[in-house]
Amino acid sequence: MDNILVTRSSMPPLEEYINEIKPMWESHWLTNMGVKHEELKVGLKEYLNVDNIELLVNGHLSLELALQALNLQGEVITTPFTFASTTHAIVRNGLTPVFCDINQNNYTIDVEKIESLITDRTSAILPVHVYGNVCNIEAIEHIAIKYGLKVIFDAAHTFGETYKGKSVVSYGDVSCLSFHATKVFNTIEGGAVCFHDEHFGDAIRDLRNFGIHGPESVEGVGANAKMNEFCAAMGICNLRHVDEELDKRKKVVERYRENLSDIEGIKLNPVNPDVKPNFAYFPIVIDEKIFGATRNEVFSALNNNNINARKYFYPLTNTFECFHGKYDVTKTPVALHISKRVLTLPLYADLPLSDVDRICDIIKDCKMNK
Ligand SMILES: *Cc1c(COP(=O)(O)O)cnc(C)c1O
Repeated sequence: MDNILVTRSSMPPLEEYINEIKPMWESHWLTNMGVKHEELKVGLKEYLNVDNIELLVNGHLSLELALQALNLQGEVITTPFTFASTTHAIVRNGLTPVFCDINQNNYTIDVEKIESLITDRTSAILPVHVYGNVCNIEAIEHIAIKYGLKVIFDAAHTFGETYKGKSVVSYGDVSCLSFHATKVFNTIEGGAVCFHDEHFGDAIRDLRNFGIHGPESVEGVGANAKMNEFCAAMGICNLRHVDEELDKRKKVVERYRENLSDIEGIKLNPVNPDVKPNFAYFPIVIDEKIFGATRNEVFSALNNNNINARKYFYPLTNTFECFHGKYDVTKTPVALHISKRVLTLPLYADLPLSDVDRICDIIKDCKMNK
């Protein structure tokens, strides 16, 4: 049988993409905020229902440049239960990550534990809507106002989601999106910042283009983080189909839930009635004492059948070799516990439901065979 990968990039019909890029053979305008870039920006602003959005070359640089544009100093409170990018964006800005634990329920930052980590060096909070599970936004905003902190949401997993009827990426001082090939909506590589303050927009527009402010003026030590026209064209095409893709993903997720919701020892991602979800990931948390097999055993059983589940998010970022000895992982015990037990199952729009059944049967067999 064919390999089943954890994800598979959404792509438009080839003809549609060719039509979209054809005009570039006339214009010879390939990057630096061309017509495709502008068209995608307008389309996303409307689809995501935000005041302001700027496109970037990838999600990581949206985080990195957002932190730089906010001119932060000192410490940033964040979580280690995330992709490397979140923590690296902080460290690469010369800032110190202060790791807050996550909550047991939906694996986002534990808002009960944020205040005890605030010092006179704290300048911001960088929470992650991990797996598209929306953080406790009200509590985070309350703390931020009380202590005068900025809030940058890593919203890489939340494309198209709403919370209490409002776009998830409209929250915070900034919300950072990723349009990487593996995400729900992709521009091959890409990212964006959604924000409210126009000065922030000015800063981001400069920083993504080397800090160049005018023909003879370079005001910031920027990077090259512009989205090129081929990526923008891919985004324009994918945006036309994203609602169909979400519908298909929903069916896959529903099938997983039918198969796995009654299995003792397997916890499924919680459903939040205030959130319109995007079905981005299907993480399960396996309690080996109840289920009878460990996460690693289930991972191997799937792997032996050419099914690539992923241990997202393991290891925790505060245990990476590059940070050796810097952070104390015992301070984030819940994150450590979950990271050793979580497994993210294959999920993409065109995953056949018969494959979902097969994946679930292999998981159930792990329990039987013990
Ligand atoms: C994908 C991802 C990023 C980085 O996005 P890229 O577009 O790959 O640079 C950042 N944070 C999280 C949580 C992600 O999943």
